[in-house]
Amino acid sequence: MARRYIQQKPQSRRELFDALVRNAIDFVESALETLDRRPKNAIVEFYTATELFLKARLMAEHWSLIIAKPETASLQAFSVGDFQSVYLDDSARRLKEIVGEPLDEMALTNFRSLAEHRNQIVHFAHTDYANASGERAGVVVELWASWHYLHVLLTQTWKASFEAYQDEIRHLHSRMINQAEFIRVRYHELEPQIAELTSQGSAFVRCNHCQTTAGKVEASHKWGSDYRCLVCEAVGLAVKRTDATIPCDVCGAPLRLFDKELVKCPTCDQAIDTDKRIALCQSVYKEGDDWWEEGAPHIAECHICMYHRPSVFYVDGLWSCVSCFDRGWQAVSCPHCGEFVTGDMDTIKHACCFKCG
Ligand SMILES: [Zn+2]
Ligand SMILES: [Zn+2]
Ligand SMILES: [Zn+2]
Ligand SMILES: [Zn+2]
Repeated sequence: MARRYIQQKPQSRRELFDALVRNAIDFVESALETLDRRPKNAIVEFYTATELFLKARLMAEHWSLIIAKPETASLQAFSVGDFQSVYLDDSARRLKEIVGEPLDEMALTNFRSLAEHRNQIVHFAHTDYANASGERAGVVVELWASWHYLHVLLTQTWKASFEAYQDEIRHLHSRMINQAEFIRVRYHELEPQIAELTSQGSAFVRCNHCQTTAGKVEASHKWGSDYRCLVCEAVGLAVKRTDATIPCDVCGAPLRLFDKELVKCPTCDQAIDTDKRIALCQSVYKEGDDWWEEGAPHIAECHICMYHRPSVFYVDGLWSCVSCFDRGWQAVSCPHCGEFVTGDMDTIKHACCFKCG
């Protein structure tokens, strides 16, 4: 924040909170404006906004929580902006330990990778992208992904703290959604090239980042395909999909529980959340894979999303998580702690699982 030699007039806590939130909103706006010309700067600005929103939530709890060393805090120094503030991991820890509203693991993982990308951009020349349009598309999808988590926090989880800013947040949300148009246009431009490559024998899958079917398959495995996306230049893994359905417990309609877009039963409208998915799967999937023995646990805990209860079932030949929808990892009882978990088998055998690590 501000240095000592910058003269700031003391402000009330309410004014300071408001300034923090408005600053965060400005940084999102400016990231959106920078996107066209200097996409990398958009990452830096958007990351700054993310840190500011987290600090604002901490400040809503108590002003001293945004100071790196609260034991050195003085309200006088704080009110003129003279202090070292917390970074992402400290904010996350305080949200969990002090505020009691932890960021969920997926959000934290996303913010951390945004932080990492921001650091690469600030400290090193960073040349991941082959061309300007691909660079912009890559940045758009990265911002989208992070905005998704921020938006849920600001409009749902932490709505009470950000009640006064819901109009501005709605406005930012619609600007973010409009970036989808850019992705559509770029996909359209690349369609002839995709058709050409397909006729030459290449396969394409849906990209997890930009959601277009521009992921050129580079290697295939039992659990899915490694691809490089022509639209946003992301490399990723398209997990093999399953068409398995489970009957709705209210109306009997077949539900595609492994489709993350399914949020309610299309026939009777009952809401389908993760716990509902687990309950429905429990009634149908009662066994594990070929290694599984009668009486052993058959629902594994997921090391990817770390959902707070077992969420991985053996479906259609692959271990499949109904919380994060990842598939294809192996599941074992950890030899160190005994928990039934997914993960990388070598890591679990030689070191630990995600529960005991
Ligand atoms: Zn893509
Ligand atoms: Zn139903
Ligand atoms: Zn999961
Ligand atoms: Zn373990």
